[in-house]
Amino acid sequence: MSESTPLRLTDSHGRVATDLRISLTDRCNLRCTYCMPAEGLPWLPKDEVLTDGELVRLAGIGVEHLGIRTIRLTGGEPLLRAGLEALVAELATLRTPSGDKPGLALTTNGIGLADRADALVAAGLDRLNVSLDTLDPETFKTLTRRDRLADVLAGIDAAVASGLAPVKINAVLMRGINDHEAPGLVAWAGEKGVQLRFIEQMPLDAQHGWRRSEMVTADEIHAKLSGRFDLVEDPVDRVTRGAAPAELFRVGSTPQRVGIIAAVTRPFCGACDRVRLTSDGQLRTCLFSREESDLRGPLRAGVSDREIAERWVIAVRGKLPGHGIDDPTFLQPDRPMSAIGG
Ligand code: SAM
Ligand code: SF4
Repeated sequence: MSESTPLRLTDSHGRVATDLRISLTDRCNLRCTYCMPAEGLPWLPKDEVLTDGELVRLAGIGVEHLGIRTIRLTGGEPLLRAGLEALVAELATLRTPSGDKPGLALTTNGIGLADRADALVAAGLDRLNVSLDTLDPETFKTLTRRDRLADVLAGIDAAVASGLAPVKINAVLMRGINDHEAPGLVAWAGEKGVQLRFIEQMPLDAQHGWRRSEMVTADEIHAKLSGRFDLVEDPVDRVTRGAAPAELFRVGSTPQRVGIIAAVTRPFCGACDRVRLTSDGQLRTCLFSREESDLRGPLRAGVSDREIAERWVIAVRGKLPGHGIDDPTFLQPDRPMSAIGG
């Protein structure tokens, strides 16, 4: 590749990655059963985690040279990253070749957001997703192994008050634990004015406890909701969905929309526009990749932006066509969700 060749993150199946998901930390203050074991995980040593400067440099290479248009900050729990507001402010100074600011989004469990939402928006954050699986304090304790529902609800209120709209809420349903709450969560979301999206549970937990036969499927979720609401598929959403993973439904004649993300039973890999960077600087082309490309090593060895960009291009070229969860040969990735960045 010559220095002047413009680079794009195109894979060998014709998809172009424009959305960068960055895990800011593998640590978390909850222990959701579908994500982490009760005792937590052996966290990454500090010196292996990218510094703010390294992270902004890599994101800058993506935005300025590789066609990245949106950046989502996640984890682990991204609010645990010290100085997050300053990092967001630095990322907000990046510009695409046509002079646009990349869209900046955050996925968080909401703990601590009540005091930080306004500062994050002031720093340049454009979108907020908060995870909430239940409205019952006891079920919250069972699911996350922590008694923090009130903090999460306060975080959601602050997200709504911050003016970023729509605030999206991610919910994972677990059979026999919170699946009966699906209609109640939709009613709550309607009252709050947030967009609820149910995500099928994926095999990404560190304990390898996921069973295809036990997961609550998108069709089941749809059936549970249809018992109480008139769900109307929106033809406009279908056309404009693009790479968005959620199938969106209008709730009756209200302005409310509810999403169902059928990550396992109706994979959307064919439209995937994502690439992921772990907090220790490993590039992953899919949540389910079993291979990673090291960007931290070259970065710390002092190679040029162009060389890092070229490594990135080569990594994305090898992206597999799909995650293959339903394939009998499927193997769960070694890194759990919390260390990849959901
Ligand atoms: N800690 C933050 C949070 O919970 O929002 C950000 C990281 S978390 C890994 C990102 C999203 O992944 C959350 O909405 C969470 O519910 C979801 N998630 C975690 N493990 C999952 C699994 N096994 N299947 C489906 N979604 C999962
Ligand atoms: Fe933490 Fe998010 Fe995993 Fe729950 S889903 S344990 S909040 S990283």
